[in-house]
Amino acid sequence: MTEKSVKSISEIASFCKENGLIYPNSSIYGGLAGFWDYGPVGCEIKNNIKNDWWKTFVHKREDVVGIDGTTITHPSVWKASGHIDCFTDPLIDCKKCNTRIRGDHLIEDTLKIPADNLSLKEITELIKKKNIKCPNCKTGELTNPRNYNLMFSTEVGAIKDDNSTAYLRPETAQVIFADFKLVQKSARMQLPFGIAQMGKAYRNEISPRDFIFRSREFEQMEIEYFVHPDKINDCPNMTNEIKKFKIQIITAQTQEKGDSNHIETTIGDLLKKKIIKSEWHAYWLYQMYKWFLELDMKYENIRLREHMKAELSHYSEGTFDIEYRFPFGWKEIHGMADRGCFDLTQHNKYSTEDLTYFDQESNKKIIPYVAAEPSQGLDRAFLAFIIDAYTKEKDRFVLKLHPKLAPVQVAILPLMKKDGMKEKARDLFNILKEDFTCLFDDKGSIGRRYSRVDEIGGLYSITIDYDTLKDNTVTVRDRDTTEQIRINIDQLENALHNLIKRKNKLTEFGKVMGKG
Ligand code: ATP
Repeated sequence: MTEKSVKSISEIASFCKENGLIYPNSSIYGGLAGFWDYGPVGCEIKNNIKNDWWKTFVHKREDVVGIDGTTITHPSVWKASGHIDCFTDPLIDCKKCNTRIRGDHLIEDTLKIPADNLSLKEITELIKKKNIKCPNCKTGELTNPRNYNLMFSTEVGAIKDDNSTAYLRPETAQVIFADFKLVQKSARMQLPFGIAQMGKAYRNEISPRDFIFRSREFEQMEIEYFVHPDKINDCPNMTNEIKKFKIQIITAQTQEKGDSNHIETTIGDLLKKKIIKSEWHAYWLYQMYKWFLELDMKYENIRLREHMKAELSHYSEGTFDIEYRFPFGWKEIHGMADRGCFDLTQHNKYSTEDLTYFDQESNKKIIPYVAAEPSQGLDRAFLAFIIDAYTKEKDRFVLKLHPKLAPVQVAILPLMKKDGMKEKARDLFNILKEDFTCLFDDKGSIGRRYSRVDEIGGLYSITIDYDTLKDNTVTVRDRDTTEQIRINIDQLENALHNLIKRKNKLTEFGKVMGKG
């Protein structure tokens, strides 16, 4: 296991604030707990994550289409989905200092045992038995836990009455179910197929914490993948390559024994042992796990966690999380449930529409089965990618983000502002900005400018100097290795395309030019 560069979440929060990645929202008024703003560098990285996710799972596939629904929907959606009745966390108050505490987190933090699955009664008993006091004031007695609904409510329309209450969506998934029939018909989709959506979700978390890990407004990127209920094990995409794919996993059985260690195994083995129940679920777990690795997340820092029976959500036939090794422990960054036919059955019952699907093969109407619901929190992915890329070297700091995620692909840096170097650099910027995300910087020493590019994860720095004015060559510097080569401006665009796509290394260009 490699030594982590990041020691604490507050270190990463300071780094993000100083470098324009993320700021506390409305900080000029003291901030608002659980709300964060992305700065100039942060929003570039965030957009890059979104774009890659959409490209990978929508544009590159024939069987997935996207939608962009509203964040406020008809309240019946949330009644049918079970959110109005079941989307709750156990809330506890301190009788002395009035701090509000999430019951399961209190148990997890003080007793170091998993508590996601504990009932209100079990939490009450543990607090009494172990004499747990308020974590804030240390001495306060605690109230018994009670169910607290996480949905933000609002009013729709000019008249406020019982019928005007609406909710900000706590997940993007339900809008997909509500639009299922319209999408299926208009896009002429045949089972198996998926509907993807990304966008804001809101949860009035009892105690937002760990920087952007648990916030009250965040973004999700989700897919509902529908299959015929008799064909959940009939995944034509399940190749031997996927079956042999290695992953780290902590199973439900291991956790039930109180063991917190994961093992390494293969997707095929998990299917054989029926730990993953269907081929389609296994296929999507593989897809999402691989997505992180392909974006350079370190293998040792991610793992799957199987949900224990008692912690399964009301809709789930089986759930796995992808967890990341944060400075505050292994935590969920992605959740993937097998939702069965729960949601469409519910909306079919509560709504006025027939949401069944006509299966031509059997000549029957069926309710499609959601074999997998890959649910990716964008902000948690962002945090994990940043922590993973955060690298302290002997004499410098560098954010080693994958080229697809880097906020700047090419930094254009005139050595000095004088003698035409600045103008030459500006001309180059104007050409390269058409194809690359570019930064023009002529302020401060060249060394300091290289450091600044490294700190925000900028990929290549181009320096325009006196030689450029003589022979039209520039220096290209690689963020990860700090290697530099000289290259003719005429070959620069082509070289950058190859470098960014990782078709070539900088040294290979050096050899071609004979100047490496
Ligand atoms: P947790 O157990 O950590 O509260 P969850 O199981 O409720 O999370 P899901 O409902 O499965 O989360 O949501 C899917 C994804 O949405 C999560 O894996 C996470 O990445 C993201 N997510 C959920 N809640 C939050 C939050 N409060 N802040 C940021 N991201 C969140």
